[in-house]
Amino acid sequence: MGYREHETYDVVGVGFGPSNLSLAVALNEHRANARGHGISATFFERQPAFGWHRNMLLPSATMQISFLKDLVTFRDPTSSFSFIAYLHASGRLPQFANNQDFFPTREEFHRYLEWAQARVAHSITYGSEVMSIRIPHGANPKSAGHLEIEVQDVTGRGARVINARNVVISTGLVPNMPDGAERDERVWHSSEFLEKYRRMNPGELRRLAVVGAGQSAAEITRFLYDELPHAEVWAIIPSYGYSVADDTPFANQIFDPSAVDDYYYGTEQTREAFWRYHRNTNYSVVDDEVIRDLYRRAYDDEVRGTERLHFLNLTRLSGVKRAGAETRVSLQAGLDGDVYDLDVDALVCATGYEAMEPTGLLGDLDRYCLRDETGRYRVERDYRITTSPELPCGLYLQGGTEHTHGLTSSLLSNIAVRSGEIADSIIASRAKRGVDQAVPVEVGHDGG
Ligand SMILES: Cc1cc2nc3c(=O)[nH]c(=O)nc-3n(C[C@H](O)[C@H](O)[C@H](O)COP(=O)(O)OP(=O)(O)OC[C@H]3O[C@@H](n4cnc5c(N)ncnc54)[C@H](O)[C@@H]3O)c2cc1C
Repeated sequence: MGYREHETYDVVGVGFGPSNLSLAVALNEHRANARGHGISATFFERQPAFGWHRNMLLPSATMQISFLKDLVTFRDPTSSFSFIAYLHASGRLPQFANNQDFFPTREEFHRYLEWAQARVAHSITYGSEVMSIRIPHGANPKSAGHLEIEVQDVTGRGARVINARNVVISTGLVPNMPDGAERDERVWHSSEFLEKYRRMNPGELRRLAVVGAGQSAAEITRFLYDELPHAEVWAIIPSYGYSVADDTPFANQIFDPSAVDDYYYGTEQTREAFWRYHRNTNYSVVDDEVIRDLYRRAYDDEVRGTERLHFLNLTRLSGVKRAGAETRVSLQAGLDGDVYDLDVDALVCATGYEAMEPTGLLGDLDRYCLRDETGRYRVERDYRITTSPELPCGLYLQGGTEHTHGLTSSLLSNIAVRSGEIADSIIASRAKRGVDQAVPVEVGHDGG
């Protein structure tokens, strides 16, 4: 258990993916230098143990960012929580260097994240879903000085309430299903892919379809083709083919920490230009290597006359009918093309995600949060939601700030710097309140 009852924490973190892990590390390192005046923090995660997109840890899938964009390096290259420190601790630093590759597999990066979380485990409670964040019942938000965070044990062992002066919400992206498709045991979103795939008997899977044109769609198509040599796989692609992810150096600059300022302080036109010119760095695009792998497989099959990988370009899913083990997918070729059916044993919708949306968690608190003219949250440069003066507590966002802070909001690229900025903001606001002496320390022991 990573919290103490009846304590008012400086920070409660909601969700414990890489973003809040990076924050926990930043606070941990602050504590180490703060001689007993560290920030008290505790984190709640609904998964039973640490997991970063576990259902997409496909064999040989690689990271889409350099290992240098780990939890800490861009904030503090001397941190003992870096990917290099992990490699050193694992005895693999020379071997990693011999690979001469900036992009580790996702499996290895996952192991790195697990190693890092184990060193701050003292401050995390797994299997705990945050249900709401609220002002204490009947209290005046200004004089209460803290918020209540209602946490539900996912195994049904009841709820509890934790007090905090600041809350950092980092609940991640929300899976998006296409219209007309409902998830079940044969219709999967990519975010649940491996779990659902492993529940099936592979021999039963002879015809599969994958909807989408992004990285996950291409990786799953390749995986199914390789894992199921007896199966036919249809890739349902709305565009004319997969488009390549631009990770060339000039384009990559939009993920630099300094690009956040350019975006944040830019005009609406600047921000719009960021998306217009650089969307192809991350959205609905695929790594060159995966595209070439798929094309090669299809070509080799054609040479052998054993075609079992089908690319349905310019095609959209228009509906799914399910009955027992049968799944009938309706497809439309072109915008006004004929609709035809395809029978499959499983359908994977690699149809992406929506941005993080904290409104549900905020409930009534939402009325203290200021919004812009288009209804989106106003967010300060330090990732704190702009609130009306009656609410002195901080509500910070790690994610869901694409409209204010730009493309890195839901990515790993900037988490080291961003969580450092959030930590600094919380430390500064506490210093301003002058409570330095009174706060006990909670953030995890560096036990690794
Ligand atoms: C397959 C895949 C690969 C990716 N690869 C890359 C990559 O290589 N590079 C890159 O920059 N980005 C990548 N991304 C983008 C991705 O968003 C980031 O990798 C990363 O997950 C962001 O971390 P996060 O902590 O903000 O969110 P998440 O990792 O999504 O973590 C959020 C956590 O909050 C928990 N949670 C949600 N609601 C609650 C609640 N109410 N109470 C308690 N816990 C809750 C969730 O269980 C989850 O563990 C990838 C995304 C996917 C899907």
